[in-house]
Amino acid sequence: MFAMNHQPSTTNNQQDIYDVAIVGGGVCGTSLLYTLSKYTNVTKIALIEKEAEVALINSNKNSNSQTLHFGDIETNYTLDKARKVNQAASFVKNYLLQNDIDQEIYTKYHKMVLAVGKEQAAKLKTRYQEFKQLFPALRLIDRQEVAKLEPLVLQGRKSDEEITALYTDEGYTINFKKLAQSFLDNALSNPEKSIDIMMATKVTSITKQNNFYLVKTNQKTLTAKTVAVTAGAHSLLLAKSLGYGKDYALLSVAGSFYFAPEFLRGKIYTVQLKKLPFAAIHGDPEVDNQKITRFGPTAKVLPMLERHNYATILEYFQTAGLSLKAIASFLKILSDFTVLRYIILNLLYDIPVIGKILFIEQVKKIVPSVKLRDLTFAKGYGGIRPQIVNLNTKSLELGEAKIIGDKIIFNITPSPGASTCLQNASDDTTRLMDFLGNNYQFDRGKFDQDLSDKVVTKI
Ligand SMILES: Cc1cc2nc3c(=O)[nH]c(=O)nc-3n(C[C@H](O)[C@H](O)[C@H](O)COP(=O)(O)OP(=O)(O)OC[C@H]3O[C@@H](n4cnc5c(N)ncnc54)[C@H](O)[C@@H]3O)c2cc1C
Repeated sequence: MFAMNHQPSTTNNQQDIYDVAIVGGGVCGTSLLYTLSKYTNVTKIALIEKEAEVALINSNKNSNSQTLHFGDIETNYTLDKARKVNQAASFVKNYLLQNDIDQEIYTKYHKMVLAVGKEQAAKLKTRYQEFKQLFPALRLIDRQEVAKLEPLVLQGRKSDEEITALYTDEGYTINFKKLAQSFLDNALSNPEKSIDIMMATKVTSITKQNNFYLVKTNQKTLTAKTVAVTAGAHSLLLAKSLGYGKDYALLSVAGSFYFAPEFLRGKIYTVQLKKLPFAAIHGDPEVDNQKITRFGPTAKVLPMLERHNYATILEYFQTAGLSLKAIASFLKILSDFTVLRYIILNLLYDIPVIGKILFIEQVKKIVPSVKLRDLTFAKGYGGIRPQIVNLNTKSLELGEAKIIGDKIIFNITPSPGASTCLQNASDDTTRLMDFLGNNYQFDRGKFDQDLSDKVVTKI
C-alpha cells in the first residue's frame, strides 16, 4: 500500500538526506506531503507516523465533528477569522470537488445556525448584515422555512418562541481520515519524487547537528535539511525538547458525542454563548450514514495528549511543564465562573446515566422532543483539541498555533485544523522553500489556481 523507496542511513551521504521530514501523518502532515509533492521541486521527502495508518488520531472519522468550517454559521468566529477560515476551507472543498467525484470522502448537507428567542434572533440578524457579503449563499430564514427543512426542530417547541436561522446549502461533512489517505495516495502517484512513508514509526527525538536535523525514531535515525512537525498536541512536546515554545502550555479539551436516530437532514448549530472558548454543541447526520444523527462535541478537560491513550498522560505533564507560570495560567483561566461551570458540566456529560440526563438539555435546544431513550453515548468517539495556553498573558489562545524555528516548523492544531489543512500546508511549504534556499520553488500560483474559488468576472 505504501511506497518504501529505500532505507536512509545516518551518515550525511547527500543521497540519504531528506529535503523535508514530516513528523505526523494526520490530515495536516499528509496535506503538506501532497503540496510538496505536487507543487514544489523538492525531490526527497519522508513522512513518519507512529500509527499503522494515516489519520488514526484527531483526523480519524470518529475523533472530530466531521465539519468543513467556513465561518458562515460559526457564531464564535469574528468576520476577520471567518474570512481566513473561508479561504482555507475553500481549498479543501475544491480539492474534494476535483478528486472525490464519487463522494466517498464527503457528503453535502444543508446547514444552519439556529436562533431561539428575541435576543438570539436579533444577534443573528445583525451578524447576517455583517457576513452576507463574504458568504453570498447565506440566507436568513424564518420559522416556517426552518420547519419545512428540519421538521423536528420545531416539533414540541413553544409556538410563540421566535425562531430564525442563518441557512446555506453549502454544508460539507468530511471523513478527514479518507481525505488524509487521498492526499497520501496523490502524493505517492508522482513518479518524479522519492517519498518514504514510515508507518508504525515513532519519532523519539529531534536534534540539530551542523546544518542538518537528526530525526531519531524507534526504527532508525533520519537526516533531514528541514523538518515539519505536524504531530498534533505532540508537536509542542517536540518543540520544547529543542528549546522552542517555552511560553506555551496546553489545555487538552476532549470532545465526546452522543448518537440519536435520524433526527436531522443537515447540520444544525446553536448560537455561541459569549465568553465560552469552545464551539456550542451541534447536531448533524454522520458523513456516511444519514440515518444516524450525531450531537456534540462536549468539552472535557483531560491531562492527556491523545484521547483514549493513557500513555500520553506523562507526556501531557512534560508538555505543560508544571511551572508556577503554568499553574497560575490554568488558575486564571478557570477563575472565570462561566468557564469553570462549563468545564465542570462537560466533565459530567461522559458519566453513564447522569451524563445523558444532563446532555439531553443541550440536544433539546435543537430537537425539543428528544427523549432519553433516543440518545446513546458514542463510545470510543472523540478526540482532543490541544488549546494553547499563553504563559505570558495567562490566557487561552484559540485556533491553531505555529512555532517557527531554525529550519523547523511545529504545528499545533485544535479545531478547525482539519478545515484549514491545505492553507496550513501552503504556508508551511512557503517557509520550507525559504529554509531550503534558492534552488527550491513552490508553484504557489498553480496551487491557488487549482484550489481557490474561481472569481467569475462579469463583462
Ligand atoms: C472533538 C473534536 C471535534 C473537532 N471538529 C472539527 C471539525 O468539525 N472540523 C475541523 O476542521 N476540525 C475539527 N477538529 C480539529 C481537527 O480534528 C484537528 O485540527 C485535525 O485533525 C488536526 O490534524 P493533525 O494532522 O494536525 O493532527 P492528528 O490528526 O492528530 O495527526 C497527528 C499525527 O501525528 C502522529 N504523531 C504524534 N506524535 C508522533 C511521533 N512522536 N512520531 C510519529 N508520529 C507522531 C499521530 O499519531 C497522528 O497521526 C476537531 C477536533 C476534536 C477533538
